[in-house]
Amino acid sequence: MAATLIDGRAAAQELKAHLVGEIDALRRHGTRPGLATIQVGDDPAASAYERRVRRLAEELDCLYHREHLPADAEQADLLASIGRCNADPRISGILVLRPLGKTHDEAEVFRSLDPAKDIEALHPKNAGLLALGTPRFVPSTPASCFHLLDRHLQRSGTEPGTFYRRSLLVVVGRSNNVGKPAVLLGMQRNATVVSCDEHTSQAGRLAELTRQADILVVAAGVPGLIGPEHLKPGAIVIDVGINPVADPVTGQTRLVGDVRSDDVRDVASALTPVPGGVGPVTDVWLLRNTLHAAQLAARRTHVQAA
Ligand code: NAD
Repeated sequence: MAATLIDGRAAAQELKAHLVGEIDALRRHGTRPGLATIQVGDDPAASAYERRVRRLAEELDCLYHREHLPADAEQADLLASIGRCNADPRISGILVLRPLGKTHDEAEVFRSLDPAKDIEALHPKNAGLLALGTPRFVPSTPASCFHLLDRHLQRSGTEPGTFYRRSLLVVVGRSNNVGKPAVLLGMQRNATVVSCDEHTSQAGRLAELTRQADILVVAAGVPGLIGPEHLKPGAIVIDVGINPVADPVTGQTRLVGDVRSDDVRDVASALTPVPGGVGPVTDVWLLRNTLHAAQLAARRTHVQAA
């Protein structure tokens, strides 16, 4: 039987409808969520993400602020941008778009974020809270993977708690923003978790490990890395990869995932498409985290005033 396609666009619409109500409720208490993005240079994928979250912030009537620096900006300029956003009380959440420039010290950039506004949980304090299982913010892409998984299980009549406890989750990719937090979220659901990265592939062990997965989350940024030979029959596959490739026939650029979706359709039980899978949910989740940051800030102000 062909795999169920997990519809990220429909899930994103549901989440957005829920957010509208929550943002309205906060506004009635005098608070408007504010999102800031900080971008260095003009990487096309970062620019496309910036445009999508700006449109979404405007649609949800959140304040939106953009800091756009030239590709050759100094580290001090980047830190100054972050300082401005940290100090601006209208801004609840800050997204630093990657990639930064080659000379920028990414770790110092994340350390300089106000932890209360660090909606992608990249500051060591927030990364630590996430690792301890008591997150202040759950980074939007891994959160979206598990939102889609939970939703798919519920819709197919499977109790998520029991399913995760019995499952082996394999995460391919170990970045700080996607792979590592996905591992932690899997552990928090009591799944048995295996983490693979490029070294696993180089050691020739990737397929051996992924073939045992009941749930496979792939975030490697390698187009078509995963095929039917990597899957256990019936596995649920979450394809995070978004890779621009030139179409051999038309020559035009199109987006593909890390999974050869046409080839795995008869082996997997469910699969997220690219585009239209994890991506649309990630965009809305970022605004959800912005709202959460605004709610926490409003609560702090309320406590201080009391
Ligand atoms: P990254 O480059 O920071 O990390 C990639 C990870 O994959 C690394 O741990 C690396 O070791 C591993 N890897 C690379 N080649 C591998 C191989 N052959 N076998 C096994 N592991 C391998 O990338 P990232 O920021 O985590 O993003 C990964 C992908 O997800 C990219 O395609 C990116 O565009 C996409 N992405 C999508 C969303 C979304 O919302 N859908 C959000 C963020 C990133």
